[in-house]
Amino acid sequence: MLDVGRHPNIELLSYSEVEKVEGRIGDLRVTVRRKARYVEEDKCTGCGTCTEKCPTAVPDAFNEGLGDRRAIYSYFAQGIPSTHTIDPDQCRQLKGKKCGICAKTCQAEAINFDQKDRIVEIDVAAIIVAVGYDVFDPSRIPEYRYREITNVVTAIEFERLLSASGPTVGHLDRPSDRAVEAQIEELEKKARKSQKVLGKLEERFGESSAEFHEKYQAGQYQGDQERQKWADKYAAHLSVMEPLEDLKKRAEGFTVAKRLAFIQCVGSRDFRFYPFCSGYCCMHSVKEAIIAHEHEPETRSTIFGMDIRAVGKGFEEYKIRGGDHSNITYVRGRVAEITEGANHNPVVTYEDTRERKVKSQEFDMVILATACAPTKGIIELAKVVGIELDQYNFVKTSPLSPVDSTTPGIFVCGCAESPMDVPESVAQASSAAERAAEIAIQPRPEMEHAVA
Ligand SMILES: Cc1cc2nc3c(=O)[nH]c(=O)nc-3n(C[C@H](O)[C@H](O)[C@H](O)COP(=O)(O)OP(=O)(O)OC[C@H]3O[C@@H](n4cnc5c(N)ncnc54)[C@H](O)[C@@H]3O)c2cc1C
Ligand code: SF4
Ligand code: SF4
Repeated sequence: MLDVGRHPNIELLSYSEVEKVEGRIGDLRVTVRRKARYVEEDKCTGCGTCTEKCPTAVPDAFNEGLGDRRAIYSYFAQGIPSTHTIDPDQCRQLKGKKCGICAKTCQAEAINFDQKDRIVEIDVAAIIVAVGYDVFDPSRIPEYRYREITNVVTAIEFERLLSASGPTVGHLDRPSDRAVEAQIEELEKKARKSQKVLGKLEERFGESSAEFHEKYQAGQYQGDQERQKWADKYAAHLSVMEPLEDLKKRAEGFTVAKRLAFIQCVGSRDFRFYPFCSGYCCMHSVKEAIIAHEHEPETRSTIFGMDIRAVGKGFEEYKIRGGDHSNITYVRGRVAEITEGANHNPVVTYEDTRERKVKSQEFDMVILATACAPTKGIIELAKVVGIELDQYNFVKTSPLSPVDSTTPGIFVCGCAESPMDVPESVAQASSAAERAAEIAIQPRPEMEHAVA
């Protein structure tokens, strides 16, 4: 990635959208909208001072909404270019309110609220569509109760929880426990505020709120309006403190998730959704179970699948190593249902097809290996670029030339073409680049001849 940013022959137009493609093979004009970041890329040093001071917190899409980011943010730490962006839908200043804190704190004077989108036109010989995929939405499978049971997460969410740069700095804290911790934080904030108010009253009247309240309840201070207010404030404070103490007691028992269930083929190999195999999910479940075990050696994982498709050099050995050294059990069977047991524990009901028995098992967390779905903007993009899509909305290619789209000079690679893992995507990207280079290096007249 860094090499791409530095390469003299690569011009990177990030935070941009392709709006129009005209011309033909070897001679294409592409109209690109360079969206306003409200931050001058060439001035921003990526120091992050603005982010620290910005008061607007919104769910962080990069962390799958499991953490927060600010209205001024960098999408992820290693992003190229290393610049920040203001989210115009969230920023107070851009929504007409008063703020501008980021502009005041930015030493590089990089904030520019007047920045506008820019339209640029570039002439190219060929185009490679590499827009990837989207994660299948598992709430379309009601029996898995994704979003209803907090401790049922997708594999990509689980990866963010496992990541040292993620919202839990790599600890496998259960979402239900994190929700309680967020409640505690909220109540502590309220308690601090009400304690401050009570503190002033205590100072003024020279006694503690508890002592005062006892006397007040015994009938002293009748008709004293100021003390009536104090009593009300104290009651409000107690209504915060009581649930806070209960939640804190509950939180004392929280530990990281140690019993993990991975459910394979969620939306894949399923005629209701995508009948094909998504190719990479068996291996990422094995990988995630191995990493979870590295984080916490008491972790035990069960991977439920019709079969584990360990197709690739060394993949089968990796799968076996997971079973031998990382407490992974492989169960052959499709999960029928997930329900919620005590303590927000998901309970998985499945048929163990080897034993021909229906069983139920309780876990701390369930991870859904979701299908590789076509990326959301692909229909619009295909129209703009002028290429056909297949029946599932992946870019249509011929089996004999899997990087050629239906339009000459427009190529495709990676999961925009079909589900595949990173090594396959990289290999296909090299192939697409080579096909594009064949066109780019031809002298223009010859090109025109070739098209005709
Ligand atoms: C949970 C999980 C774990 C995985 N783990 C592994 C693993 O360990 N090893 C492995 O080999 N594979 C793994 N994979 C598979 C891997 O993610 C894919 O193989 C790989 O990301 C495909 O690369 P790609 O470049 O085709 O697509 P992507 O990685 O999806 O990249 C496409 C890029 O295009 C951008 N984009 C989308 N639309 C547009 C548009 N209209 N204009 C401009 N840009 C656009 C996207 O923002 C994205 O940055 C995993 C997948 C999942 C879901
Ligand atoms: S102006 Fe917008 S981005 Fe800047 S600090 Fe305020 S809310 Fe955050
Ligand atoms: S790779 Fe495994 S989990 Fe993914 S669709 Fe294929 S069989 Fe199912």
